[in-house]
Amino acid sequence: MESKKRDIRALTREQLRDFFVSQGDKAFRGNQVYEWLWQKSAHSFDVMTNLSKATRDMLEENFVINHIQVDQMQRSSDGTIKNAVRLHDDLVVESVLIPTKTRTTACVSSQVGCSLDCKFCATARLKRMRNLNPDEIYDQVVAIDNESRLYFDRPLSNIVFMGMGEPLMNYNNVLKAIEKITSPEGLGMSPKRITVSTSGVPKLIKKMADEAVKFKLAVSLHSAIDETRTSIMPFNATFTLADLREALVYWYQKTKSRITYEYVVWEGINDQRKDVDALVEFCRFAPSKVNLIEYNPIDDGDFQQASNKAIEMYVETLEKNGITVTVRRSRGKDIDAACGQLANKSGS
Ligand code: SAH
Repeated sequence: MESKKRDIRALTREQLRDFFVSQGDKAFRGNQVYEWLWQKSAHSFDVMTNLSKATRDMLEENFVINHIQVDQMQRSSDGTIKNAVRLHDDLVVESVLIPTKTRTTACVSSQVGCSLDCKFCATARLKRMRNLNPDEIYDQVVAIDNESRLYFDRPLSNIVFMGMGEPLMNYNNVLKAIEKITSPEGLGMSPKRITVSTSGVPKLIKKMADEAVKFKLAVSLHSAIDETRTSIMPFNATFTLADLREALVYWYQKTKSRITYEYVVWEGINDQRKDVDALVEFCRFAPSKVNLIEYNPIDDGDFQQASNKAIEMYVETLEKNGITVTVRRSRGKDIDAACGQLANKSGS
């Protein structure tokens, strides 16, 4: 019987209203339940106190609320918090709270594992098990918002889709989650405070542009030379830089939103003048800025952070060419919570 129950959060507001009408009840009960499920993040029917006991029992008989469970919370010496998040089918993903003086950022996962094969990323070593549902993405954000209020006395301010998985390979669910997060019926957050980070799937970048999304786009570039990029991000053989570039130009034309390129400089891989020159060239096609990310070792010796001198060369050259560049220090390294380190070590 248990398995016959439907996940109530897969229903739209209209479907919930229809359900109540089909039960001989008033449509507005659907609104009440919808509000409990999303705005108030209810994890059980029992807490829905403006419904009669009989109605709550009836919901219980028909539906489940497949909520997440924060199994384990680790705190870094720099304040970063990593949650091991257990899903209803016992799979585990991770999400991270990153506090700064003025912001709290949630770094959320979009898939269990990842189907891409970036050589430098720990998540790539877990095979992709499944996509997360919109409510599972939403719940990660709610959990981090609660932690931010509890430990830092302020609400969550920003969200980045830089946890496990490739958000564009779970396109529909990620967009549905963002819709709920930004809607006044959900968390009412501004889409300008949300960044979707992708390895770059050209067709889907164009699709987002066509849908006039309002969130920000970050692209994990790491090299603007096809041969090099393919050697560290093999899917680049299929989604080449020329296609990516065309999609990004299209994105900017449609959205007028500046693109962020995420970029790690590794010794012997992309630390030469020709690498930075190619990046400068790539940045000319659409308004953009560059985030130089520190490499977070994933316990093998293939990749090593480039020397400070190489990073200096990047910064100087980019700045000389009028391109905004920031050097981002990693957070939460001591608990394997930094970019590319999410691999369910805590959850296993
Ligand atoms: N799949 C998405 C989002 C997840 S990765 C994407 O590729 O953008 C989030 C960021 O961390 C990406 O920029 C990724 O390239 C970077 N990253 C992955 N492994 C890393 C590592 N070991 N050290 C530093 N950054 C890493």
